[in-house]
Amino acid sequence: MNTPVPFFRPSIGEEEIAEVVATLRSGWLTTGDRARRFEAGLVEYLGADVEAVAVNSATAGLHLALEALGIGPGDEVIVPDLTFTASAEVVRYLGAEVRFVDVDPATLCMDPGLLADAITDRTKAVMPVHFGGLSCDLDAIAKVVADRGIEIVEDAAHALPTRYGGRLIGTHGTAATIYSFYANKTITTGEGGMLVTPRREVAERARVMRLHGIDRDAFDRFRKPGSGWRYDIVAPGFKYNLSDLAAAVGVQQLTKTDLFRNQREAIAERYLDAFADLPLRLPVRGEQGGHSWHLFPIRLSTDAPIDRDAFIARLAERSIGCSVHYAPLHRMTYWKDRYDLKPEDFPVSEDVFRSLVTIPLFPAMSEQEIETVIAAVRDCLSLKAQPVAAGG
Ligand SMILES: *Cc1c(COP(=O)(O)O)cnc(C)c1O
Repeated sequence: MNTPVPFFRPSIGEEEIAEVVATLRSGWLTTGDRARRFEAGLVEYLGADVEAVAVNSATAGLHLALEALGIGPGDEVIVPDLTFTASAEVVRYLGAEVRFVDVDPATLCMDPGLLADAITDRTKAVMPVHFGGLSCDLDAIAKVVADRGIEIVEDAAHALPTRYGGRLIGTHGTAATIYSFYANKTITTGEGGMLVTPRREVAERARVMRLHGIDRDAFDRFRKPGSGWRYDIVAPGFKYNLSDLAAAVGVQQLTKTDLFRNQREAIAERYLDAFADLPLRLPVRGEQGGHSWHLFPIRLSTDAPIDRDAFIARLAERSIGCSVHYAPLHRMTYWKDRYDLKPEDFPVSEDVFRSLVTIPLFPAMSEQEIETVIAAVRDCLSLKAQPVAAGG
C-alpha cells in the first residue's frame, strides 16, 4: 500500500485556530484590528518603507493596483503567457488590453528580451510573475522599461518570501507588489491577498477602492461616536476588503513565513538531489536563500520513458496528487480568440507545457510522504529497464 500524498495540505496550527476563535468572540468580524495588524506585520516583515493594503484575493489586489495607476481603455499591459489567468484578466476588467510575452526557458519567468519587443506607445505597465517563487530578473525588466513611463506591477502570488539581489520581493521600489494568501499559497488566509506599494497615493486609492469608494473605512466610522454615520462616496469602488476572520489566520501564518520557506527549501533540496540523474529538467535554485519554493515544477525530457500525461496518471494510480502550472494562456479560448494568438508566437511556453508537471511540495509533508514521492518519480522515470511485473 502506497501512502497517499495530496498535492497540497495547509499548515494550520493551534495559533491560527486560537486567533480565529478570539476573533469570533471579539464581536468584530469584518475588516478591523486584525486586518490592520496583518498589514502592519507584513510591512514589518518586509522591513521597507512601504504601505500594505489587505484585500480578499491577489486578483483584487492586482486589479486595485492597475486601477490606482490609472490604467484603462486604450492602454496595454504586458503579461507573461505562462501564468494563471488572474494576472491577465484584471487588465480586461479595466478595459485595457493584454500583450502576452513568452518566458525564459530556464526560469519560466517573463523573458526581458521579448518584453522589449512587446512594448508599444500604448504600454502602461508590465506585470512580471515570479514563477513558482523564483524571482524574475527585475533589473533587466526595469532597464527595458526605464524612462518610458511604464510601471512595474509584480504578481508576487508565489513570492512570499522570495529574494532578488538579497532583498525581499516587495521592497524593490516597483509601483506595486501583490501577494496571494489563497489556500495553497506559501502562507494562507483561505482566500486573501495584500497589495504593497512604496507610493502613498497608490495605497490611498487602493484603500478607498477596496471598499466601495468610501472615503474612510467602516472601522473609523465605528470608532468615532456621534459622527460615525457620515461618509462620502468618491468613486464606484469594489468590495475587496479582507475580513478580520481571514486576517486572524494571516496574522499567525505571517509569523511562520520563514519557517515554512525553510521547510519547503529542505524538501526542494531533497528532490533536486534525488532526481539529478533522471531524464528531467529540474527547477533552478536561483540565488542563495532567495527561492520561496512555492512550486516544484519539473519537465520531462524527450528521452523520458513516459510522457507528461502518462506520468501524472501513474502518480495518480499511487494516490499522489500533481498539477500543471500552467497551461499557457495562449491556449485558452478567451485569450486565443481575443488576440488571435498562435502557438508559434510562444515557442518556449508551448514546448515547456508539453512536459510540465508540478509535484507535491508543502511544509506539512511527512518524511514518509516525501519518500513516497521520490520513490514514485524515480520508478516512473528511471531509464534503466523497468522491472517486469512477475505474476501480478
Ligand atoms: C494564485 C495566483 C493568483 C491569484 O491569487 P488569488 O489570491 O487566488 O486571487 C494570481 N497570479 C498567480 C500567478 C497565482 O498563482
